[in-house]
Amino acid sequence: MKTIFIDRDGCVNVRLVGNWVMTWDDFEFMPGAIEGIALLKKAGYRLILVTNQRCINLGKFSLDGLNNLHSQMQDELKSEGGFFDKIYHCPHDRHENCGCRKPQAGMLLQAAKDFDDIDLRNSIMLGDQESDRLAAKAAEVGCFYQISHNQTIADAAKIILSSK
Ligand SMILES: [Mg+2]
Ligand SMILES: [Zn+2]
Repeated sequence: MKTIFIDRDGCVNVRLVGNWVMTWDDFEFMPGAIEGIALLKKAGYRLILVTNQRCINLGKFSLDGLNNLHSQMQDELKSEGGFFDKIYHCPHDRHENCGCRKPQAGMLLQAAKDFDDIDLRNSIMLGDQESDRLAAKAAEVGCFYQISHNQTIADAAKIILSSK
């Protein structure tokens, strides 16, 4: 199944300057995110969230808290027709040298192990940071779209769907 990897902070929700998004009150969807995710899901794509959350291993945020936040996000997305098929997070801090913190490719490679029909070269990644682009490149994901307030997930979705 054709798969799209999507970064969270700065793509799905607005990034908080100087802090992590740890409560539903602080979780503000980016413009075009809910719509774009619904468009891609209705078009039959598998959508996989890949997010660095070093707040976990820093002890700032619990895994339960992160899971709760993501289930609220999923509920909101589902009410508009979209959802993520799977969510991967990297809990590690920068110095831990894990293989999963973007720009490393670990979360994408793990997804390719977990879903045996993922073809990374034919997959797509949406991200707002250079580390997203580099992770996609390291995993040999074929296509990357930069997301910003000016090119939202909905904008990228329209390009992807029109070039199918
Ligand atoms: Mg981001
Ligand atoms: Zn990691």
